[in-house]
Amino acid sequence: MKRIAIIISIFILAVNLYAQKPEDTEDWSRKPALVTPGKNNLPPSDAVILYSGKQDLDKWQEANGKPARWLAADSITVTEKTGSIQTKQGFGDCQLHIEWRTPSEVKGTGQGRGNSGIFLMNKYELQVLDSWQNETYNNGQAGSVYKQHIPLVNACTPPGTWQTYDVIFTAPRFNADSTLQSPAFMTVIQNGVLIQNHVELKGPTEYIGKPIYKYHDAKMPLGLQNHGNPVSYRNIWIREL
Ligand code: MG
Repeated sequence: MKRIAIIISIFILAVNLYAQKPEDTEDWSRKPALVTPGKNNLPPSDAVILYSGKQDLDKWQEANGKPARWLAADSITVTEKTGSIQTKQGFGDCQLHIEWRTPSEVKGTGQGRGNSGIFLMNKYELQVLDSWQNETYNNGQAGSVYKQHIPLVNACTPPGTWQTYDVIFTAPRFNADSTLQSPAFMTVIQNGVLIQNHVELKGPTEYIGKPIYKYHDAKMPLGLQNHGNPVSYRNIWIREL
C-alpha cells in the first residue's frame, strides 16, 4: 500500500509540474516608473533637490520656522551663532545623497573636530565628524548611527576633502495606539563603501541614556546639525520611497 501511495504522489507531482507554465510566475501588477539617472554626479530625474549650489536656502529653515542662516555658496556651511537647520518638507522612507566636508584646518579633538550630523526625520542621527586619525568612541565616529551602530569600516578621507553619504532609510511605523509597529532601518554607503548594512535603530538619537521610540508623524524634516564646527554640505538630494 505504501509503495502505491508513493507512486501516486510522484504521479501527481509530475502532472502538476507539467501543468505549470512560465507565465504563472510573471508579475504584471506594477510597472516601474521611468527615472533618468543623473550623469556626472547629478541627481536622478525624480529627486527632490535640497541644495544644488545656487546660493538659496529656500528649502531650509531653523527649528523655529525662521529662515536658515548658514553661509550659502557652492555649498552650505555651518555658521557661528546660528542654529541647526531642517528642511521645510517632511520625508519618511527615502534615499538620500549628501556630500560633506570637514574643515581643512584641523582644530579640536574627538567629538570636537568637524562635528555635525544628518538627522533623518529630525531624530535619527547619522554622524558627521572628522574621523581621519581622530580617536573617539566608535559609535560616535563618522558614519556611526550615533551611539547605536559602529560603522563596519572607517572609509573617511582627510579633512578638507569632500565625502559622500548615500543613505537608504526606512522610517519606523506606529500603531493607531501610538505603540511601535516596526523600527527604523538604515543603510549607508560612504565614498562608495558600505558602512551600515540595514541596521535596526533602537529609537531616536540620545546623547545621554537609552533610546526609546516615541510616536511621531510619518513624514518629518531632514535636519543638519550645528555643532559649532564649520562643516560644509553640497549636492543634497532625496528620493521619497
Ligand atoms: Mg554630530
